[in-house]
Amino acid sequence: MPGKPKFYLTTPIYYTNGLPHIGHTYTTVVADVIRRYKRMRGYEVVMTTGTDEHGVNVERAARNAGIAESEFVARMADAWRTLWDELGLPAEEFVRTTDLRHVRTVQWLFKLCRENGYVYKDHYTGQYCIYDNAFVNDAKPGDNCPDCGRPTETLTEENYFFKLSALQKPLLDFYKKNPDFVQPESRKNEIINFVEGGLKDLSITRTTVRWGIPVPGEEPHVFYVWFDALTAYLTAVGGPDYEKRGFWPADLHLVGKDIIRFHAVYWPAFLMAAMLPVPKQVWAHGWFLMDASKMSKSKGNVVLPRPIAHMLGMDALRYFLLREVVFGQDGNFSYDALVTRYNSDLANGLGNLASRTAAMIEKNFGGKIPKVGKLQSQDEALARETQAAIGEILDYFEKLNFARALESLWAVIASADKYLTTEKPWSLGDSETDMQRQANILATTAELFRIVTVLAHPVLPDTTARIWTLLGQPGKVSDVELDGLRWGHLATSVQLGKPQTLFPRVEKSEAIERIESMANEELNPIAVPASAPATAASTSAAGAAAVPAAREKIGIEDFAKVEMRVGQIKTAERIVGADKLLKLTVDIGSEIRQICAGIAQYYEPEALIGRKVAVVTNLAPRKLRGVESNGMILAAAVGPEGRPVLAGFPEDVEVGARLK
Ligand SMILES: [Zn+2]
Repeated sequence: MPGKPKFYLTTPIYYTNGLPHIGHTYTTVVADVIRRYKRMRGYEVVMTTGTDEHGVNVERAARNAGIAESEFVARMADAWRTLWDELGLPAEEFVRTTDLRHVRTVQWLFKLCRENGYVYKDHYTGQYCIYDNAFVNDAKPGDNCPDCGRPTETLTEENYFFKLSALQKPLLDFYKKNPDFVQPESRKNEIINFVEGGLKDLSITRTTVRWGIPVPGEEPHVFYVWFDALTAYLTAVGGPDYEKRGFWPADLHLVGKDIIRFHAVYWPAFLMAAMLPVPKQVWAHGWFLMDASKMSKSKGNVVLPRPIAHMLGMDALRYFLLREVVFGQDGNFSYDALVTRYNSDLANGLGNLASRTAAMIEKNFGGKIPKVGKLQSQDEALARETQAAIGEILDYFEKLNFARALESLWAVIASADKYLTTEKPWSLGDSETDMQRQANILATTAELFRIVTVLAHPVLPDTTARIWTLLGQPGKVSDVELDGLRWGHLATSVQLGKPQTLFPRVEKSEAIERIESMANEELNPIAVPASAPATAASTSAAGAAAVPAAREKIGIEDFAKVEMRVGQIKTAERIVGADKLLKLTVDIGSEIRQICAGIAQYYEPEALIGRKVAVVTNLAPRKLRGVESNGMILAAAVGPEGRPVLAGFPEDVEVGARLK
């Protein structure tokens, strides 16, 4: 018997200078959805993710943390891996670019490129920041370093170069022969234009970077960024022995649109030079913007996955990410839209259909799905409509158009709702005719529901597994073969599982407040959060986020980065829809600041006026329940509930005085 066809897909190998936010989560969720979908279509699938652990930024971050690079990256890799496991997104292969197997693969790839005449030694001249020990890409003489703002110097060093220029024609021929290699179409044109514009040779080693993979026999040369990081995709499935596992070339690299060029130009070029097979497809997705601007920690608008998963469940986050934007385009992220979709599509839509159907079967048929008798035309119409939707939805999945797939799937759910409302099985009596009619309606709904469950499985793995049990269907939903999915295969006379609420409705402002509060805690693990919801979930979130920063002792220079002053509260008011927050204006000597503090359950606003408090004044501004907060009031967290007690001064102190 021939084995299953193989499918290999990757997320980017994420850079370890920070921890994952919703952008990374999005790519990894999409990879997981495709993985589950492909499995249900009969493929053996390997998904790879990992951490890119070399380079100057890691050197610097480790130095700031006062630990060795190896220790720093080990903690980061651990934090990333833990998060993916926690979110139900573990990959078959997790490559760390410091793994020995990866070091060997990079050195091997280099050797092949060199043997084939694509590598030469030359001098590289560029603008260099002495403070950061790094070349500043694309900088001209006189430019300042974008990282530290200091002037750059022109520096020349010896590098190995890759003959990218020699591959212009082969690349263009390759794009022509493989028109689907770069997706979506708009990106493809961008890449072709770039390559047609001419390719410059690429410097692929450095002697000024210490923390990297050594070029054998050529120390102090180490491999530079992309030659190292991209090769991880090959490392994951065997490196030099890739033929044994049979997963190379990759079927799909999923990337953010900012790194498409490296994946669609450099990577195939390296592989062509080494005479290795080139991946089949690179798909670039867009950004999730927060209030229409790119997320960044300094803007205080970073969205973290863990608090959302704790509050609404990972399936809800997955659904939102895939439903909200067309894959490939930019989308806007807002908690408001997230919770709205949760309540309307999941709690009311899917969840409500499940509980209504189960409850009626429970009540009138003792919890056993009844057999159908002679159907009426409206039953048959619903069956036909659902059968037609199967093909349409699978087609959308195949094109990675998840938003449309889910839209069509939810249209099927809406049809079932409408069908129940029109047929009113609850209004029927208990005569034999009425009971048979009821049986037909409920069995038809249950069958529709079985099909919806199978099709939704790649996106909602946990919930659909629960629905499958609820429907009493045999085996696992993940084992159902999509190619054989047809109307009419419902197992009847089986006992339904215990009814359960799949998606409990949430109150919007309360849910958003809890998510934001958990996120703030995770983003600022060292500072005592003024609003600490006393839940097990938030404790674990904060605990995990404290890796690696909170375990470390910090130097005086790190402490000196935090600016704290004596402030005096001028006004205090409650925020509508936020039980825990007070909006304060605080005089910090040089200016009056607006600051939100999560102390509303413990302090009356009126009692705070005139009070002197300790304020962190150089925290990046952030929004809490839509209200800008520009600074933080220090408070002790007392007792298991974390009751906030404001820090104060027993002696009179001048407003604006610096705390040291
Ligand atoms: Zn610099």
